[in-house]
Amino acid sequence: MTDQMPTTSGSMLGRTLPASAVAELAASFAGRLVQPGDSDYDQQRAVFNGMIDRRPALIARCTGDADVVAAVNFARSQELLVAVRAGGHSVPGYGVCDGGMVIDVAPMKGVWVDEDTGVVRAQAGLTWGEFDRETQLVGLATTGGRQTSTGVAGQTLGSGSGWLERKFGLTCDNLVAAKLVTADGEIVRADETQNQDLLWGLRGGGGNFGVVTSLQLRLHPVGPMVTGGMMVWPRARAGEVLRFWRDYVETASDDFGSAPAFLTAPPAPFVPEHLQGRPAFGLIVCCAGSPEDGEALVKPFREFSPDVDMVQPMPYTVVQSLIDEATPHGLHNYWKAENLPGLSDEAIDTIIHTVAGMTSPLSMVIVEPKGRAISRVGDGDSALGGRDAAHTLYCFSMWADPAESETHVAWTRSLMQTLAPFTMPGVSLNFTSDQQEAKARESFGSAEKNRRLTALKDCYDPTNFFRLNQNIRPSGPA
Ligand SMILES: Cc1cc2nc3c(=O)[nH]c(=O)nc-3n(C[C@H](O)[C@H](O)[C@H](O)COP(=O)(O)OP(=O)(O)OC[C@H]3O[C@@H](n4cnc5c(N)ncnc54)[C@H](O)[C@@H]3O)c2cc1C
Repeated sequence: MTDQMPTTSGSMLGRTLPASAVAELAASFAGRLVQPGDSDYDQQRAVFNGMIDRRPALIARCTGDADVVAAVNFARSQELLVAVRAGGHSVPGYGVCDGGMVIDVAPMKGVWVDEDTGVVRAQAGLTWGEFDRETQLVGLATTGGRQTSTGVAGQTLGSGSGWLERKFGLTCDNLVAAKLVTADGEIVRADETQNQDLLWGLRGGGGNFGVVTSLQLRLHPVGPMVTGGMMVWPRARAGEVLRFWRDYVETASDDFGSAPAFLTAPPAPFVPEHLQGRPAFGLIVCCAGSPEDGEALVKPFREFSPDVDMVQPMPYTVVQSLIDEATPHGLHNYWKAENLPGLSDEAIDTIIHTVAGMTSPLSMVIVEPKGRAISRVGDGDSALGGRDAAHTLYCFSMWADPAESETHVAWTRSLMQTLAPFTMPGVSLNFTSDQQEAKARESFGSAEKNRRLTALKDCYDPTNFFRLNQNIRPSGPA
């Protein structure tokens, strides 16, 4: 993969599937098969990122494991390029392809919460909103995405960052078992007693080894009420608040989930007029403990007299939806992320200076604290690397007008180039639009881990049938 503009304008690439083969698949398929010409074809091929405009030859909307097996076997027999889709949130658009087949697990929404074992079994089509709704009924949660329509499957396999990560680890650290369909259409289970190596690879190794049909995740007591919300200051206050936050998260309890954000204040009723449409600095928080403990954790930030203070006791499910409105489906998105070994005064000043040139009012630059439970997992204990980072810096560029793409992509790249001296290798690829192979290798970490991942790929997908992902190439000819 190259570092080109990540847009595609679709053509069918001339591929027409034999009607008899599709009819044969349909006879053994319980879900829907969507093809060009169907009234909802455009709706079904759309993904979160409006920059991605691809036209698959077939979308297989699977309702269960048997559909996934049938779809995989069909794609293999027709030699089709395969995209696997759950929540459709991949910013590089891995969930859809031109001319090939989308294996869409989104209709698979089963979820079974076992309060006795504290483990949930979730089918692969669940989004975080759907997942949290069920687990919160009994006051349980795992580290989940901060946007309700992100897919549980794609996020977990690629790492999984959320408000609870410093207390309970990343989502992939909570993955205790998975069932998947391999490239040859076989069902394989991975857990702590069988295929442990595969489970290790699924904890951060992405969709490289097969189509995951269900996952089992460890749950923890959280909520239902927590202290959460957002404080906002004019951008001129960013330096002092960010420095205080940096020092505060060094010693604050693992309960304190937080993210300082550079944004443009929206023209919303809760924003005072003098801030609306102006560069602002926000702090989003979610405290995993009791609302009272959470209140004590956020109190020091009130000393900085925020212009907007919406931090209060609220349902955990509401905190999980706080950024939904700012990240609607269909906008154009170009994202980058890098890990930071620390946040020096010089790094803070450079971030503030560079972010001042933000080209779209819809974009956000966010810093998140890492460490704690994330770095208590040994680097060799999962496919995911970068566990020694102190922070991650995210640049989420978003805009509506396709004519502006070049400007915003160029700005995002230049921001990360300017900040490169303050970054370190090993960021999770879930958040990056450009994913060269070298970047993927670097994100997994040591040569030994990369060797182990290649061996797993050779075992489960030697032809690189599943290659639209943060790809691990098999060692043989693909
Ligand atoms: C608005 C927004 C908010 C986000 N917030 C967070 C966040 O808070 N924390 C975080 O960690 N990430 C976050 N992400 C990033 C997100 O986790 C990744 O983009 C992830 O890949 C999305 O998963 P998905 O299932 O929604 O996407 P899809 O596009 O459906 O899938 C992405 C890729 O994941 C793999 N995959 C998905 N399902 C399966 C499956 N069943 N079997 C095998 N492989 C599969 C495939 O390679 C697929 O191409 C966010 C993304 C967006 C757009």
